[in-house]
Amino acid sequence: DVLVIGSNMIDLITYINRMPIEGETIEAPDFQMGFGGKGANQAVAASRLGSKVSFISMVGNDTFGKQQLANFKENHIDTTGVSIGTKSSGAAPIFVEPTSDNRILIIKGANNELTPEVLDRYIDLIKNTKIIVLQQEIPLETNYHAIDLANQFNIPVLLNPAPANEDLDINHVSKVDFFSPNETELATLTGMPTNNLDEIKRAAKHMIDLGVKNMMVTLGSKGVLWVSKDSGELVPAVKVKAVDTTGAGDSFIGSFAHYFAQGEDVPTALKHANQYAAVTVTRQGTQKSYPTAAELVSHIN
Ligand code: ADP
Repeated sequence: DVLVIGSNMIDLITYINRMPIEGETIEAPDFQMGFGGKGANQAVAASRLGSKVSFISMVGNDTFGKQQLANFKENHIDTTGVSIGTKSSGAAPIFVEPTSDNRILIIKGANNELTPEVLDRYIDLIKNTKIIVLQQEIPLETNYHAIDLANQFNIPVLLNPAPANEDLDINHVSKVDFFSPNETELATLTGMPTNNLDEIKRAAKHMIDLGVKNMMVTLGSKGVLWVSKDSGELVPAVKVKAVDTTGAGDSFIGSFAHYFAQGEDVPTALKHANQYAAVTVTRQGTQKSYPTAAELVSHIN
């Protein structure tokens, strides 16, 4: 069982020839709506692999909220913990230029209404899981409360500090079992350089000294650096031809949670998460690119 506490967003992907200037209206060649938000993406990845996934999240009181709920159900996610807020659903207008350059706006909307008090309504979900997974598109205080509850009930907790937030409180981070930043997020948090593997190792060890049990620094096509108190290794990525890396980080986190919840040890779960994330970068889209357990087999063999 996996419990994800976090965000959901509707991606409004607009393919443009160029940005309009002020006062101008121009045509854009294409548009696509997509289900996103880091929390939702991670929940979908774990669920497609076969985990029993519960999600604590907040959708808006609007059409997007209804579509989100339908999408969670379609992906066999338990929505007991999903509530309807008063604000609009979280949305992300994304503008993609012909050069593939992106401009992204994030409207957190109802995700900001996922307050610490909301978690107290779902203590049963929090107590009865193998791992709790957190990201940073909901209020930081809610994550802190989730970490405290996880510690109280002895449930392993994974914090994926994305998007980076300089205000993240190190005292709470030090209480997590798994901390999974990318190089940039690690640099933001520690204020240490992360330009090469030695520097990344040093910054990761610093976090271990502060109390984090396992550091898992994702390194894109290089894989993931695992550091714990007495061991650690670079778990290399699978070599693939990447066509779209959006959502790769989330597929990695969600699949790691699945494999860990299945009882795999950390390096094995990391190896399998690398395999899962590698398949997603060979396919277009975010959740759309996440394979089921059955599809994954055909990719690996
Ligand atoms: P983020 O998108 O959060 O920055 P990364 O780019 O570090 O995350 O990617 C997360 C994981 O996805 C990596 O650890 C790796 O397993 C996988 N991955 C990302 N890009 C590639 C790639 N080009 N080839 C193979 N695996 C990849």
